[in-house]
Amino acid sequence: MTSPLLGQSQAALEAWAVAEGQPAFRGRQLHAWLYRRGAHDIAAISDWPLSWREGLRAREAETGQPLIGRLTEVHRRVAADGTTKLLLATRDGLQLETVGIPSADRLTVCVSSQVGCPMACRFCATGKEGLARSLALHEVVDQVLSVREAMERRPSHVVFMGMGEPLLNTEVVLEAMAVFCRDLEMAQRQITVSTVGVSGALPRLAERARQVLGRTQFTLAVSLHAPDQRLREALIPTARGYPLEELLEDCRDYAWETSRRVSFEYILLAGVNDAPAQAEALARLLRGFQSHVNLIPYNPIEEEEFERPSPRAVNRFRQVLLERSIAVSVRASRGLDQDAACGQLRRAFAGSR
Ligand code: SF4
Repeated sequence: MTSPLLGQSQAALEAWAVAEGQPAFRGRQLHAWLYRRGAHDIAAISDWPLSWREGLRAREAETGQPLIGRLTEVHRRVAADGTTKLLLATRDGLQLETVGIPSADRLTVCVSSQVGCPMACRFCATGKEGLARSLALHEVVDQVLSVREAMERRPSHVVFMGMGEPLLNTEVVLEAMAVFCRDLEMAQRQITVSTVGVSGALPRLAERARQVLGRTQFTLAVSLHAPDQRLREALIPTARGYPLEELLEDCRDYAWETSRRVSFEYILLAGVNDAPAQAEALARLLRGFQSHVNLIPYNPIEEEEFERPSPRAVNRFRQVLLERSIAVSVRASRGLDQDAACGQLRRAFAGSR
């Protein structure tokens, strides 16, 4: 099976055109159609000779493989605040979610790296279903293009916080970042990769990022969700094989290697991890660390025992961190009325059919 054209660089597309017996500039035209105009179908490329397009379409029909490799939008939900959640279908019949989160000065795309997720975090809808498979490069790149089309606005930021654990698909995530920067003219600083931690993955990420991207400027966000190993294991079962001390040591090495500050994500669950004493423990854990903590009040999902903390509890937790000189922010809820937590649109849609 040949790789889809979406995700390839201009040089690779030129080489493809030449291999097809065409002049190299046809590859440059294709590059503009893929990334600037968001072509879904080879037939739409009106700059190309009709006879060649017809030949390519006949090949697609014969092999059953579309050359470009765009996903199909299956469902769309738009929240009152403009947050737009798309359900996209792959060629092999799987469905994944991507979310566009608008604000006055930015459009952030929350991208999935896998269909499903094997990490089984207890508070997460995606983790309930296990892993179907990791996404290919064109399927990750497509999500940004699909959000651009749906929202008729250029995405400025990408966060790998959708379905899946990005560091179980590191090569594709790094290649997709290269496409976002090179072909979609995004700044690497506007990209965030979020992980719950995979043993051995951070040293490899630092090394491969340097090789694939040249320099590391994206933000690494590590999900802690608990200030101690026991509670962390209860919330994130895979943490059993990756002790908190080891994860933090890897974060320190990563920050030193890349000269980038690490962000820590902490989902606040009422009565579970939102007590002031737990904020104090978190502050102790991060003492001396060049870091930033992002607090995320939990979005309830069905059939789970967790609850959203009160604004008072969130503020109290934040205050304890601030008093201990930890840089902290609270993530505002977006699109809460449209099943905002990852994995929820797919489940709601599947349930409604
Ligand atoms: S929170 Fe992230 S890593 Fe955990 S199960 Fe959900 S998608 Fe996977």
